[in-house]
Amino acid sequence: MLDYQRVLEVIYHDVTNIKDKGTVASYIPELANIDSSNFGIHLRTLDGREYGIGSFNTKFSIQSISKVLSLSLAFSLIGEKILERIDVEPSGNPFNQLALLERENGIPRNPLINTGALVIADILISELKNPKEDFLNYIRELTNDDSINYNLKVANSERETGYKNFAAAYLLKSFNNLENDVETVLDFYFHQCSLEMSCAQLTKAFYLFSNKGKCYLNKKQLTNSQAKRINAIMLTCGFYDEAGDFAFEVGLPGKSGVGGGIVALLPNKFIITTWSPGLNKKGNSKLGMYALEQFTTKTKLSIF
Ligand code: GLU
Repeated sequence: MLDYQRVLEVIYHDVTNIKDKGTVASYIPELANIDSSNFGIHLRTLDGREYGIGSFNTKFSIQSISKVLSLSLAFSLIGEKILERIDVEPSGNPFNQLALLERENGIPRNPLINTGALVIADILISELKNPKEDFLNYIRELTNDDSINYNLKVANSERETGYKNFAAAYLLKSFNNLENDVETVLDFYFHQCSLEMSCAQLTKAFYLFSNKGKCYLNKKQLTNSQAKRINAIMLTCGFYDEAGDFAFEVGLPGKSGVGGGIVALLPNKFIITTWSPGLNKKGNSKLGMYALEQFTTKTKLSIF
């Protein structure tokens, strides 16, 4: 049987010796102070084992990783209707690009770029009674962990400098692809991105995507087909204009965030999360991508 802990230890040792750790995101001022020497990795298997090394219990800003969780809740609430307002094609462009949206008449390419996530936020605001509270409770339910929370400093910091997201929301509004007002949608979006979770909490939250829609506590949250589709969207769109590279190097569906986290999974087998705050030029965690490539190479476990 594979000695997962040993594999993680070898990767950890390897990664901590790499000097160029990438650059911490600073366009959200509150994120700029994170120490780039942090590194954590956590693996959770569907047969109930877990392994971790480094800062895998330290909470960090999950940022765009939250887009998969908001998509999941919206999908479970209104199903295929989301496809009337968002496409499922890779964008091949940075996460905050606006030109495509204008060219494609206000229909975002996919739910994992910012414009798509803003439409999902709008759907949740229309569907939920207390949107921010209900979304937080959804995450707490998925993880069976009430300690998870928004970081209001990070949410406010992004509001103060999130000019591109304001532009994106106004553009969506001009194409009638937002039902609610721009301020409300952005407030929800900045909060969801500010969620703080550890690697170990994220492997729990993403359990349902590996487990055909049944969450960590075995409750059915998504249909088999919805879980399959969310994995397909992660594989093709989870890393912005580096989605092809991630599929090529790692071979797993996954999602990154500018806080330096990456969650990836193998359906029916495991969920793995890395955290290393330094990013590469495309905004994905430099050492996280490397560590996951090493993991699937060493274990020969991937979807291909
Ligand atoms: N809140 C960030 C933004 O909208 C998320 C980006 C990311 O994690 O990729 O710019």
